[in-house]
Amino acid sequence: MFGLMQDQPLLISSAIRHAARNHGKAEIVSKLVDGTIHRTNYAAIEPRTRRLARAMQRLGLQATDRVGTLAWNSYRHLELYYGVSGSGLICHTINPRLAPADIAFIINHATDRVLCVDLTFAPLIQAIAEHITASIRAVVFLCEPHEMPSLALPAGMDLLCYETLMADADEDYTWPVFDERTAASLCYTSGTTGRPKGVLYSHRSTILHAMATNFPDAFGLSARDRVMPVVPMFHVNAWGTPYSVPMVGGSLIMPGRHLDGASLTALINDERVTMSAGVPTIWLGLLNHLRSSGQRIDTIKRLGVGGSACPRMIMQAFEREYGATVVHAWGMSETSPVASANAETEASQALDQPEYWRMRDKQGQALYGVEMKITGNGGVELPWDGVAQGDLLVRGPWVASAYFGNEAGSALDTEGWFATGDVATIDADGRMEVTDRSKDVIKSGGEWISSIALENIAIEHPDVAEAAIIAATHPKWDERPLLIVVPRAGRVIDPASVLAIYEGKIAKWWLPDAVLVVEELPHTATGKIHKLTLRQRFKDHLLSS
Ligand code: ADP
Repeated sequence: MFGLMQDQPLLISSAIRHAARNHGKAEIVSKLVDGTIHRTNYAAIEPRTRRLARAMQRLGLQATDRVGTLAWNSYRHLELYYGVSGSGLICHTINPRLAPADIAFIINHATDRVLCVDLTFAPLIQAIAEHITASIRAVVFLCEPHEMPSLALPAGMDLLCYETLMADADEDYTWPVFDERTAASLCYTSGTTGRPKGVLYSHRSTILHAMATNFPDAFGLSARDRVMPVVPMFHVNAWGTPYSVPMVGGSLIMPGRHLDGASLTALINDERVTMSAGVPTIWLGLLNHLRSSGQRIDTIKRLGVGGSACPRMIMQAFEREYGATVVHAWGMSETSPVASANAETEASQALDQPEYWRMRDKQGQALYGVEMKITGNGGVELPWDGVAQGDLLVRGPWVASAYFGNEAGSALDTEGWFATGDVATIDADGRMEVTDRSKDVIKSGGEWISSIALENIAIEHPDVAEAAIIAATHPKWDERPLLIVVPRAGRVIDPASVLAIYEGKIAKWWLPDAVLVVEELPHTATGKIHKLTLRQRFKDHLLSS
């Protein structure tokens, strides 16, 4: 017997409709490419998203056609999220920081029909246009008619203006109702190894993920929040904030292109931002700016952090000096992305300081909806004792089942688990801690050393700006940790004093064998340290020295 409740599909259009009807005056504030501030609200933007749906229809697009975006966080990108997905098309966000050849590969692989592009990326379009003629019919610049760039596009590829398309369309459009499992958006992982792979989110997965990230121990958003997603809308949907914030009726503050400490501080204070989300490097940049300028960010109550392990120093600084609670979360493109967040409990709040901060280092408990487990040799499940480390597997309604173009389920094992490629421990309180990417783990004499743990300690040294640990080949132990550090501006690093900082914090055999000082570290398109490049350069360092 089925329950006798209404069966309404979970569709993305419902979030913007809800916000417009119930929280119409909540703001969407955007720092535009030209540096000006644009203000609108949900009541004003929802009709524009319907107008956009009509404009896409007039371009001849049909259900599940892909619309690519190359854009910063702004109200127009938000309109695309809703106008495209809401009308049954697929919003394909593309990371402009990837190499042009990768961008062209992704556009062709996704067979995007139309590209919607911020003015900043006109040179990029010019560079790749010849390579994307197979599928792209039109490039739409997200601007007013008088701002249109003059580009020579290949035959068959129209150059269009977003605001002209909008003016020519009408908003007499009713959001269609369809199966909630329909594809809504597409995002390619940055492909630190091999070619980028597409993750295809559904309406259902997007709505469920956004609702779960609104839980109090995750991002805990409310109608009183003014949320600034620093995480880009071009990578994993800005951690779902374009959906989760409208759901609760909060305001969205879109930072646009400039994400340095000074720009963010100004926007936070001008717009009274209460919550923001970003990767650790962003918060480090903000912290350095605050300390050197003496400025404050007193409206901020919470900072969400993820994407790579958050150094303890960042959490402590924001909580002790600036009164902002840091929420440490974990996830990946394939998990929409948020899958876990470190929830404090009565017991954890009563811990002594050293144990308390050890607990805070962890990436936390699975959000309701996601299941996690760790496995060792032969796929045997490992105990949740905080010590045993193994491959981290996840499953749940917002976890990918296959990559774009492949059979549904092809990325899963027979029990439906997705292997994350991360190595982790899980403790008796359910808190997961990532110790490594499996390809970065250091196997010294058959035992594993966590590069993340060693990096987090190195970063506490006052002269160190950034640190990476890689596995270097060793004649006796197979692999040993090699520490590569970048000095802070104006500082000189003494390798011996960096090694001294490990004293008493790790088992003696974890101590890096050498410290190399370099000017800068290579980064991926999502801002992570590119360990593959480092390994190629330095893996024989211990042999040669
Ligand atoms: P890519 O950078 O290849 O696009 P993602 O952005 O999906 O991939 O990154 C996912 C990976 O980032 C995870 O598998 C994990 O290794 C790392 N990661 C994400 N959050 C954290 C965190 N809080 N702590 C440590 N590692 C993290």
